[in-house]
Amino acid sequence: MVSAHLSGDGPFTKQCHTWLERTLGCAKALLTHSCTAALEMAAILCDIQPGDEVIVPSFTFVSTANAFVLRGARPVFVDIRPDTLNMDEQQIEKAITPKTRAIVPMHYAGGPCAMDAIMKIADCNGLWVVEDAAQALLSTYQGRFLGTIGHLGCLSFHETKNIISGEGGALLVNDSGLAERAEIIREKGTNRSRFFAGEVDHYTWMDIGSSFLPSEMVGAFLCAQLEQAEKIIAARRRIFDLYHRSLRSLEDEGLIRLASVENASVANGHLFYLIARTTEERTRLIEHLDARRILAVIHYVPLHSSPAGKKYGRVSGELGVTEDLSGRLLRLPLYYEMSDEDVGRVVASVKEFYAASP
Ligand SMILES: *Cc1c(COP(=O)(O)O)cnc(C)c1O
Repeated sequence: MVSAHLSGDGPFTKQCHTWLERTLGCAKALLTHSCTAALEMAAILCDIQPGDEVIVPSFTFVSTANAFVLRGARPVFVDIRPDTLNMDEQQIEKAITPKTRAIVPMHYAGGPCAMDAIMKIADCNGLWVVEDAAQALLSTYQGRFLGTIGHLGCLSFHETKNIISGEGGALLVNDSGLAERAEIIREKGTNRSRFFAGEVDHYTWMDIGSSFLPSEMVGAFLCAQLEQAEKIIAARRRIFDLYHRSLRSLEDEGLIRLASVENASVANGHLFYLIARTTEERTRLIEHLDARRILAVIHYVPLHSSPAGKKYGRVSGELGVTEDLSGRLLRLPLYYEMSDEDVGRVVASVKEFYAASP
């Protein structure tokens, strides 16, 4: 009789690990219960200590910074590039101090950061690179998958992402020297993985850690999603392209700005945004769409202006691009089952808005 395996690291979880390792080409993939958890593991693996500094964009989700604050580090916020909305690699060196330990680039909308420049700066200064690839599964940079270029990469399978398991994530361990410690940290600080692999005859407390692994039910769900990953991402890219083609005329007229096509061509169709001319115009556009039952949402409240960001972080240089674009960016609906007619309805509503307020 085969007993049901419901806790973590059963056959489904292992299947997900193998899929991620083979498809993305990383030394070790470990499922976690969220991308937030993977980032927290990364902070432990980089041995972040109180007083250390970590360079992060301000234009990102909370967890990119919070995972390091939990270890006592200070996030140092740098500006983004106006074209990709990703961390501006030219702002990184100015932000480095003797306390800097890591750079945490986040690939916005699944579009790649300038990883060559970032890895070079990290190498020259002896810093870790942790990619927040929460939005970037199967996106590429110069033919390599995002999340596999830094020393560590963090993926999310939250239901708002492309490939989902409700809550879920993965840590990609690209520096194989970190793999054994990663397994220990994930298993409450024990060497239980080596015990299950038959490498030790009992397991014990080895290091700090927590319970970072998901249950097999999450692994089973994710397995089924990963099998469909190419199909899901192809559908999302198609919707992205349709939006882009349909709204191009508004961009040509200078009424809105769209995501850069170069970045989108290697991205995974995670989200589609436009940039309005002013914050006030964005507010009116949100209301216009809302009245037509279309949900359009903003991204992000910059971390350096948030209560916790002010308390725990500091700013390096000017964050003018972050402040400007976060006030004008609007995401349009994009989901797997979205039909061409659905996209057409959103496009028509946006065009109707601009026809009335040119
Ligand atoms: C979604 C997201 C996260 C958090 O992912 P969870 O799996 O919900 O923890 C972290 N960073 C970025 C950039 C995200 O978009």
